[in-house]
Amino acid sequence: MSTQPLVIGKFSLGMGDRFAHEAEAQLAACLAARKLGVEIVPVWNKSNREHNIIGSEPTSTRAAADAAVKALGWTAPYFLDADHIGLKTVDRFVGVSDFFTIDVADFIAQPADPAAVKAFVDRHPELVGTLTLAGIDRPFTTTRADVERTAAKFLLAVQEAGKVYRHIVSVKGVGRFVPEISMDETDSPQTPPELLVILAAIADEGVPIQTIAPKFTGRFNKGVDYVGDLAQFEREFNDDLCVIAHAVKRYGLPANLKLSVHSGSDKFSIYPAIRRALAKHGAGVHVKTAGTTWLEEVIGLAEAGGAGLALAKEIYAEALAHMDELCQPYATVIDIDRSKLPAAAVVNAWTSEQFVGALRHDQQNPLYNAHIRQLIHVGFKVAAKMGPRYLEQLKACRESGSRNVTGNLLERHIRPLFL
Ligand SMILES: [Zn+2]
Repeated sequence: MSTQPLVIGKFSLGMGDRFAHEAEAQLAACLAARKLGVEIVPVWNKSNREHNIIGSEPTSTRAAADAAVKALGWTAPYFLDADHIGLKTVDRFVGVSDFFTIDVADFIAQPADPAAVKAFVDRHPELVGTLTLAGIDRPFTTTRADVERTAAKFLLAVQEAGKVYRHIVSVKGVGRFVPEISMDETDSPQTPPELLVILAAIADEGVPIQTIAPKFTGRFNKGVDYVGDLAQFEREFNDDLCVIAHAVKRYGLPANLKLSVHSGSDKFSIYPAIRRALAKHGAGVHVKTAGTTWLEEVIGLAEAGGAGLALAKEIYAEALAHMDELCQPYATVIDIDRSKLPAAAVVNAWTSEQFVGALRHDQQNPLYNAHIRQLIHVGFKVAAKMGPRYLEQLKACRESGSRNVTGNLLERHIRPLFL
């Protein structure tokens, strides 16, 4: 085994593959990007939550990724992300994963030891006062009380990340995996000045993170476009990049540290801003996409017509019937207006073109329906319950499925962000 520490490249794409049948189609998008001149590191991510809903194990994700890499002759690095794990859930991933998204959002705002908070602020007088960071026009002005408040809010979460990190190290060894810390699944966004305090604390905790996932301003609903103030997003995203560059130098965090954008698929309206910011700062980024691939599977079924279309309609009808249960685990990241969801009988009468038009993320198409899209997004449990019946149909509709999966990642994601 090589002793070189694992380092993730500048641009990487998190790809979720709920039923472990699309790894080749996903990798084909990275391969196409490579031919077009940009290196995208593929990272297969599947959260503990997804594994539980589907009833799968991380070993199946590893097997699918390795098989795709072999089949397509991919020689560049690729990773397997244990997505949104904590101390209680990490163990089933430790053997097969080499990227860990340590999710400590639940520990935000839980009270940290006041003595630890005081020690942190004492150790970091540079965080108090007027901070001028390269690239940010308006300096941050913070009082000791501000820094204390921020530290009190995030210190316990960072300490928890340290525990999880050290646990993974005890099994895999230092440098044998890419650590990410995520704080995105929480109510309020983290501001750039807060991010600076968080990064200082992470450095103190000795976690050599290569990616960090803050919660950004605005709504990042699953599978649909960004909702929020575009100008504010762009300003904060740029400021975050400057904060990271500063923290790398000031606190000795890994030089390749970059932002990780969770629920990053389909956020078409902010891609130009992200692209501009990356170019301006020469920065890298990790963009996680997961359910967008499952949606393309369903589009592939519908596009194939016949039994494929019938199964896609059945998935919609079942998802509609079990909407509350399916939406519950994703309540904070979806926004579905029930009155915009057609009855199952209406959808059952649809042609292939109508179904595909409603589901495919083409906002120019008058048939497009963001509410159906979000419902199907959270509806993968329905397909999981169908078991072999779903998988058989997926294989029968292989051509349209793969074409849509590859095309979606390449044309709607990689191209606007990186090409
Ligand atoms: Zn996330």
